Formats: sequence, C-alpha cells, structure tokens
Amino acid sequence: MKTIGLLGGMSWESTASYYTAINLGIKAELKGLHSAKIAMVSVDFAEIEKLQHAGDWQQTAEILIESALNIQAAGADFLLICTNTMHKVAEQIQAELNIPILHIADATAKQLQADGVDKVGLLGTAFTMEQDFYKGRLQERFGIEVIVPNTAQRKTLHDIIYTQLCLGEINDQSRQQYLEIVDDLFQQGAQAVILGCTEITLLINQSHTSVPLYDTTKIHADAAVTAALAD
Ligand code: GLU
Repeated sequence: MKTIGLLGGMSWESTASYYTAINLGIKAELKGLHSAKIAMVSVDFAEIEKLQHAGDWQQTAEILIESALNIQAAGADFLLICTNTMHKVAEQIQAELNIPILHIADATAKQLQADGVDKVGLLGTAFTMEQDFYKGRLQERFGIEVIVPNTAQRKTLHDIIYTQLCLGEINDQSRQQYLEIVDDLFQQGAQAVILGCTEITLLINQSHTSVPLYDTTKIHADAAVTAALAD
C-alpha cells in the first residue's frame, strides 16, 4: 500500500471527512484491521483565509509548498490538497515536489465523464466559481461545460462557507438556500452539480435533492484509496 499525503486544515472540518473516508475506503478494500498509510500536515486556516481575501496567493503558495515538502519528506507517495480553492496554487506546489499531486478537479472530471455528464453546475467559494483555475481545467482538459450561480447567489454560497461551514456550523436555512441554487442550475440545463468546496457535503447531500450531486471530498478521497492500492 502506498502512503497518501494529505495537505489539510482548510478547513479542518473537511479534513476530518477526508481522514474518515480514506480509512473507510481502505477498510472496505482490505478488510479487518487495515487502515490507510497517511502522512498529513494540517495548516492554520485563519492564516490562509486572511491571505486569500487579501489576494496574497503568493504567500499562500509559500505556506503550502513548505507543508507539502514536509509531507513528501515524511514518506508520502503522492499528495492531496484537501480543498478545491487552494488548487489555485497547485501548479506552483507541484513544481517544487518530486511526488505527484492528485488533482481534485481531475478526479471529479473523470467521474463526470464516466457518467456521461458534459454540462455541470459548480458550487464553491467565490474564488473557485469565478476564477479560471478550476472551471477552465474542466472545460479545457475534459470538455465539460461549467455553469455557475449568479452574483448574489455566489455571495450567499461563499459567505455560508466561510462564516458557517468552516466553523462546523450547519443550519437548515443555509441548506434551503443551497438547495434552491442547485435547482436553479438544474433549470438552466446542468445535468448535475459539483459540490466544489470540501465542506459543502457537511450541509447538503444526495438525500436532499434528485439533482445528481458530485461530492468532491468523497471523489477525491476515493481516488486516493484507488491510487494507494494500485500496483
Ligand atoms: N474547503 C474549501 C474548498 O474546498 C474552502 C476553504 C478554502 O478556502 O480552502 O474550496
């Protein structure tokens, strides 16, 4: 079994979901007392969040590169950055590493392609929904058309992520707001909706809607299990 590198803490609420999902995945495959080999560094999200909103992505990259190098030194065979948003600096991190990054958008796109989805809605932070590092990758590398919520809806989604979900606060009114936006994207022709922020799955899941949802946390964790067990 390979050692999975996890760059977590963004937020720790979702890193806990990764840790559980990866260990459940390994247990399901290998049975008994098997558990995942993991090398993890967890950062202080308050520092990262401040830099994100100040637009200082260079400094976030530097913090994450240092953490990733520590994960590599601890023996990881490959790395997961446990957040969609921070894939904005994935290429900068990859350039400093000898081990590969298992990209969250690639894992998600492969799942969408396997299911024949070529037009998808995207929920996430404003950074993920508005900038090109994520949408562009789905469109250019995988030919998947991405539609995003309108300006007011994007603000609602973004604010709920940072002021509630990353603090572990789950409330019904926010769930309702998310589900209305999911419906809206479906009405606009999305065949499915990507939960493109690793905390959204704490708020909504497939039991809440008939619109197919792609949970990036679970997809990314499952891809890590597959990669860890591959020859
Ligand atoms: N975990 C979130 C994501 O997947 C947001 C937190 C962050 O900004 O990293 O995008």
